[in-house]
Amino acid sequence: MVNYKDLGLVNTRDMFARAIKGGYAIPAFNFNNMEQLQAIIKAAVETKSPVILQVSKGARNYANQTLLRYMAEGAVEYAKELGCAHPEIVLHLDHGDSFELCKSCIDMGFSSVMIDGSHLPYEENVALTKKVVEYAHQFDVTVEGELGVLAGVEDEVCAEHHTYTNPEEVIDFATRTGCDSLAISIGTSHGAYKFKPEQCHVDPATGRLVPPPLAFEVLDAVMEKLPGFPIVLHGSSSVPQEEVDTINRYGGKLEAAIGIPEEELRKAAKSAVCKINIDSDSRLAMTAAIRKVFAEKPAEFDPRKYLGPARDNMEKMYKHKIINVLGSDGKLAQC
Ligand SMILES: [Zn+2]
Repeated sequence: MVNYKDLGLVNTRDMFARAIKGGYAIPAFNFNNMEQLQAIIKAAVETKSPVILQVSKGARNYANQTLLRYMAEGAVEYAKELGCAHPEIVLHLDHGDSFELCKSCIDMGFSSVMIDGSHLPYEENVALTKKVVEYAHQFDVTVEGELGVLAGVEDEVCAEHHTYTNPEEVIDFATRTGCDSLAISIGTSHGAYKFKPEQCHVDPATGRLVPPPLAFEVLDAVMEKLPGFPIVLHGSSSVPQEEVDTINRYGGKLEAAIGIPEEELRKAAKSAVCKINIDSDSRLAMTAAIRKVFAEKPAEFDPRKYLGPARDNMEKMYKHKIINVLGSDGKLAQC
């Protein structure tokens, strides 16, 4: 049994309370490898932002849970080495799908877990989430639950249609489970293809497809039922068109990739939404940089020469999100 506090990690409780009060959101970035982790930590340190490192079930399968845990421990030391005396880094399980998986992560040093019972019948979701909360809270690990179903594909999580969160259920769910935060469905979705072109309209100024707006009325109703309760948005990549264009220019084939406009996320970040999950944008930034090197320097075969630019491009994207979208820069409790 490893306690996250011994690794220098923190849970989400205090940072969420400050984020709701301050009208900003904490970035939750997924990571699977060293370059992503370096880019996330550098961006967080340079902007003085708290940060949530997310590990999905797919990342555990890809990189190994033990290795990822030690990388998170290393990330705390790396942040200190970069000049941040008091980093606030959370190691969070994204989309835990069973009690056993959540327990295993808690036992090996995660400071926060998500139990995603959103696909289950309501009472089963309540029972499963409650069981995880009872275990996690013994070790002061925070728990994210989910109500409502997001569309899209993310690792093993997949749903064709979204079902908005029912605001009538949130008080009962939060009270009976004791969860610390709640992921809700208001129209965001997983992956780089969040909307079909026929759901969008064309912006006459740019010629780009503009997706339908998020259901802010659902968010407002949830906030009215649970004032001050931490709300989480999954599937909140913006799918930057310049990265998609770079990928396609250098041999990629991403057709009609559409994300959530940053103005909508900016608006959400000012509300009780205090954690915004971003994964696809990092994948796009990495892929765009690598494709460009491969196309322009076909003789290159030193991985550092293409993973290095990929890392720089991801760092730039993370900083942009922190400063211009979420507003979590300069929000460390102690510098
Ligand atoms: Zn998700």
